[in-house]
Order: sequence, then structure tokens, then C-alpha cells
Amino acid sequence: MTPVTCFAGRHAALFGLGGSGLATARALIAGGARVDAWDDGAPAREKAAAVGIDVVDLKSADWSKYDCLLLAPGVPLTHPAPHWSVLQARDRGIEIIGDIELFCRERAATTPDAPFVAITGTNGKSTTTALIAHVLRDAGKDVQLGGNIGVPILELEPPAEGRYHVIECSSFQIDLAPSLAPGVGVLLNLTPDHLDRHGTMEIYAAVKERLVAKSDYAVIGVDDDYCQSILHRLREEGHGEPLTSAISSHRGDVSEVVFFDANMLRRDISMAPHWSLDEVLVDLSKARALRGAHNGQNAAAAFAACEWLGIPHDEIGQGMKRFPGLPHRMEEVGRLGSVVFVNDSKATNADAAEKAMLSYDDMFWIIGGKSKEGGVEPLRPLFGRVRKAYLIGASSDDFARTLDGALAYERCGTLDVAIESAARDAAASGAREPVVLLSPACASYDQFPNFEVRGDRFRELARALIARNDKSTRSQP
Ligand code: ADP
Repeated sequence: MTPVTCFAGRHAALFGLGGSGLATARALIAGGARVDAWDDGAPAREKAAAVGIDVVDLKSADWSKYDCLLLAPGVPLTHPAPHWSVLQARDRGIEIIGDIELFCRERAATTPDAPFVAITGTNGKSTTTALIAHVLRDAGKDVQLGGNIGVPILELEPPAEGRYHVIECSSFQIDLAPSLAPGVGVLLNLTPDHLDRHGTMEIYAAVKERLVAKSDYAVIGVDDDYCQSILHRLREEGHGEPLTSAISSHRGDVSEVVFFDANMLRRDISMAPHWSLDEVLVDLSKARALRGAHNGQNAAAAFAACEWLGIPHDEIGQGMKRFPGLPHRMEEVGRLGSVVFVNDSKATNADAAEKAMLSYDDMFWIIGGKSKEGGVEPLRPLFGRVRKAYLIGASSDDFARTLDGALAYERCGTLDVAIESAARDAAASGAREPVVLLSPACASYDQFPNFEVRGDRFRELARALIARNDKSTRSQP
């Protein structure tokens, strides 16, 4: 835990007692602050009271005694409408902040030079955060990994010299962290997302920009217009070389970029307008968990961050090769002969499923669930890469209409039926490395509580199928 000593003696109101709220309350109390905490849900309040946190109804509390409001990132700050606790705090001019802000102030007060890498972007945050942490650990560093991924930031060990905090930040967390100024700030990409909570794309982009604007070293993707203009603005404002690094998921026409091309991370080191040389930085062909151009972008960002932190290129390459990947994101869960089983349950829409479809050939594709607008129609140009589709869940009729005449398919109803059929067809296909891919392009709620449970079920079914076949192969005379 990171006791927030810089708030000692202060009195905080805290709203939102989920995992990060509980951790925040505990860290403040451990640092010597007083906390009055509240949540609209009774079970969350009971859980907090059980661990000794003062639960106080903030709706009827006297707010004049509070120095600040600690807000959980899931609680609306501005859109669609400010939460009542936000209005209470604003009425009295009380600052509204979150757990990342407390960490930043504690770090600034105690160990301002402690290594701190913060990562954001619309997509790829968790993968890039986990990858940077993995490379640093692989290079023998003391690493604390958390934030919007896994462990809340204040539950991690405190900042210290030689201890690397690698922190995923959502836009909501950045919005609540006005003094966020990491050593390395990574902004991967920006596409419309969470606009219901931020209002407009411009506001959303401006929030994300704050993570890199005050970082000592900024790593910024150049594959979308929003990020490109952020990079140019920072460079113009004097945050120029060597304080920014541009990264890309492909070879483009921007120079000085760490980019991904034909399974390699490279850097354009053009010396004159008429010739250029590409420095090969890392060969990713053996990094099985980093397939696809989208992961090329993530790897390029991780490379730039780790290089700036002083990790030698060959150690970064080794670390990337050994990166196991994250569950449910193109996760290889097993093999049966030449057939590979891949769990991409996190792909809850066509956009995300497209990333997997671009990364494999000869796919036996399990799709369906609770469909999003447009269904799988946007994936039509990629149907040629798929051998056959296996339909599950509520979207089956809809998807069957889209696939009719374009792609062979089978209605399977449930995941267990689909995986058996797909595995059988894949084994008989004669393809060099057929892939049984769960990349459903749908939410899971019609058949599973969430995408994690759906992915866990796929992994379990795949491994059971592999074990059964292994046994039957071994028992052949
Ligand atoms: P996040 O934490 O931002 O949600 P993840 O690393 O968990 O991102 O990846 C979620 C999904 O987003 C992946 O399964 C993949 O489909 C897609 N994705 C990952 N990285 C990128 C990227 N750099 N650009 C676009 N899409 C990506």
C-alpha cells in the first residue's frame, strides 16, 4: 500500500467504494487523513465499514469540514450530468480528485524522481501497460503494475528510487488527476469512445492529451489525426526532440518514428531527403503474443518507453519475445496437432474482432452473442480469410443473414458445440496452422455474465478437448 502522507491531518469526503475507492480510503487513513466515505450501494458501504472505514451519508453531511472530494473514476464528473456529490463539492469550491492524483502528489512530495510510466489511449492500454511492465521485470527491475488494470494504484508499493510504477490510466482517471506528470507518458491512439461521459471527441482528446503534456518524455501514436495533432502541438510548444517519440503501427511518411513493418520494429533514421535507412530495433516474429499491426503499435510504444528508461535494445527484444500476453486478447490457449486455439473473447464488437482476423489465416471462427449495431457486416472484406463460421448466441439469425452466400457457416447455439465442430473441421482442413478462434464481435450478456467468463469457458473447453485427444492418441496401440 502507498500511505498518502501528504494529506495527513486533512479531512476528505470520498464517494464510490469499489476496489479503488476502498484502497484510496485505506491509503489516506494510513497516511494520517480522516475520511468520510459513502456509496449509493448498501453492500459496498457494509464492506467499507467492515474494514474500519467511516461510512457517512454525504448527502446530508456538513460539507464545510471537507478539504477535498475523492471520486471513483466510474462516477460522472460532467456528462451525462454531474453526480450529486460533484455538485456538493463544486458549490463549496472543494477540489475533486481521484486516486492517481493522490499518487502523483505523494510521489512529488517524497520521491519526485521515482520512475513512473503512465499509459493511455482508446485501445491497447492494458496490453501496452503489461508489456512495458514485463520488459522492465525481465530486465531485472523492481516493477509495480496497476491503475486501470488489475491492482488500484494506491494498493501498490509506494514510489521509491529504482522502483518503476507502470500505470494504466483511463480518461476518467486522467480527468481527476490535474497534476499528472509522469516520467514517461504514452498516448497510443484516439478514436471516439466514452463520448457519453465526456461530451465531445474534442473534450475526450483534450483529457487524454493531459497525460503526455506534462510528461518528461512523451510517446505518441501518429496513426490517427487527433494524436498526430497532439504530437505536433507538443513539438511546437518546445516539448521537442528528444522529449517526444512518435510511434506507428505501419511504415508511414512521418519521419523519426518507431514503426512496425513485416514483423519488425524499425526506426526511420533518414539523413537526407533522398535516402533513408531503417534501423531494425526488434524482431517480433517470435513474439507470439504480439501478432498483428495493432500489437505492432503497442510494441512500438513499449519500445520507445523502455529505451528512454535505459533498457538495452536486445533486452527489450528478449522481453517482448517472452511476453505471455493478456488473457482474452488473442490468447493462445493450446494446440492440438497443428490446430491452434485462440481466445479473443475481449473482442465485443466488429472493430476489435477485425484485429484478430487480420492476424491469422485459415480461421475457424466462433462468433455471436449480444450483437452491436452493424453486426459483422463491417468485417465482410475479411471473410475470405475465414474457412468457416460457427454461430452462437442471440445474434445467430442476424449473422446468418449477413454470411449467407458469402461464407460457410454452421448454427451451433452454444460455445461447447461450436468448439467441437470448429476443432473437427480445422483438423481435417489440411491447412498448415488452422486457428480455432473465439472472436465473437458481440457482447456476452445473452449467455455469460461477462467476456471474461466466456473466455474462461472457451479456454477450459479447448484444454479439455486437447486432453481428451491426447489421451486417445496415447492409448492407440
Ligand atoms: P484497452 O485496455 O485499451 O481496452 P487492451 O490492451 O485490453 O486495450 O486490448 C483490447 C482490444 O483492443 C484487443 O483485444 C484488440 O482487439 C484491440 N487493440 C489492442 N491494441 C490495440 C491498438 N493498439 N489499436 C487498436 N486496437 C487495439
